[in-house]
Amino acid sequence: MKLRVVVLGAGFGGLELATLLSAALADRLDLTLIDKNDSFYFGYSKLDVMFGRKTPDAVRLPYSNIVKPGVRFRQERITAIDPEARRVTTNNGTYDADVLVIALGADYDQDATPGLTQGGNEFYSFAGAERLREVLPTFSKGRAIVGVTSTPFKCPPAPSEAALLLHDHLTTRGVRDACEISLVMPFGVPIPPSPATSKALLVAFAERGIAFVPDRLVRALDPARHVAILDDESEMPYDLFLGIPKHRVPDVVAASGVALDGWIPVNPKNLETRFPGVYAVGDVTSVGTPKAGVFSEGAARVVAASLIAGLLGGEQPSSYTGAGSCYIEFGGDRVGRVDVDFLSGPSPTGSFIEPSSTLVGEKQYFGSSRRARWFGL
Ligand SMILES: Cc1cc2nc3c(=O)[nH]c(=O)nc-3n(C[C@H](O)[C@H](O)[C@H](O)COP(=O)(O)OP(=O)(O)OC[C@H]3O[C@@H](n4cnc5c(N)ncnc54)[C@H](O)[C@@H]3O)c2cc1C
Repeated sequence: MKLRVVVLGAGFGGLELATLLSAALADRLDLTLIDKNDSFYFGYSKLDVMFGRKTPDAVRLPYSNIVKPGVRFRQERITAIDPEARRVTTNNGTYDADVLVIALGADYDQDATPGLTQGGNEFYSFAGAERLREVLPTFSKGRAIVGVTSTPFKCPPAPSEAALLLHDHLTTRGVRDACEISLVMPFGVPIPPSPATSKALLVAFAERGIAFVPDRLVRALDPARHVAILDDESEMPYDLFLGIPKHRVPDVVAASGVALDGWIPVNPKNLETRFPGVYAVGDVTSVGTPKAGVFSEGAARVVAASLIAGLLGGEQPSSYTGAGSCYIEFGGDRVGRVDVDFLSGPSPTGSFIEPSSTLVGEKQYFGSSRRARWFGL
């Protein structure tokens, strides 16, 4: 008997899960991996694309490269999830599963921030990053704001990275002196679990003349007056707004009844939802880690180990620790790293490794090792 697994979403979590189950179970596995897109891209590629460091085509990893025993990829849009029956409906048919894994990530609700689509830009979607390739070269003087509009949001270091890379971009073009950069964040410091990382980022902002506006969200833009309105009703004038839009679960998840209070609750030890045989990993959950690829991947590893132990025998894995490393672009061709652990202790901890060119290579290896493992490229 083969284990019928249906994995919803081929992002960090779905790809890691399919890869591990295939390697361990091969012909005992009947896994369908479903995604509406034809290719994957790393979240951080959006920064490369918006600042013109890479072309959109160079960062796309087509799913057609997935060739793994026991795994079939389907490019279909999921339209309904029945967690009790473990049945999934797509634009092309239905799938029944012994084990269902929801790895559908976080979607964006751009309309939740009045004025954002009319008077601003966002760089969290691939389309938004592509648009900014055209917009950024036209910005040569005035006030730029990188602003978070809502919590939670993916990859908490990304707004800081965008501000630092914007500084480099404007400096290279010789227009930095004519521009101001501000970063509006909902935290007191850039990376709350890691004081050392926060300190390094605050020093980097100060050295580059980037204004850090702590403990605030951007509630709305008034495009007619060119002002951003913050959650304390104060106003900041802008000429270029780079926003982090409100995040939410994909509509199909909201309609399925698996989510509660906005996200899918899971048992933090093994990522099972309250529906037996239905797991959820990554950004779509409220497991308590930040929304970042490394955590989606780590959660997928725990689910994979548990399913493999269940089928082949052996020990169940130890609990999910919510640990992972995030690379942080500091600009100037240097990358730092923060190693964080969210669930194993009483409160989150994070240690910092100073930016260096060595870590640039390590980040490249992070990408290339996953390209090889997931896509055979
Ligand atoms: C600018 C930026 C920089 C980032 N940098 C980093 C970084 O350096 N390190 C890091 O770890 N993380 C980073 N991230 C975060 C990272 O990209 C996400 O946290 C990660 O992709 C989440 O993985 P996931 O598997 O949970 O979901 P996702 O990777 O988002 O995958 C979900 C998949 O589900 C599919 N899907 C959704 N709805 C449907 C549907 N109805 N039908 C079919 N398919 C559907 C989507 O197409 C998608 O492929 C960054 C994000 C951004 C925006």
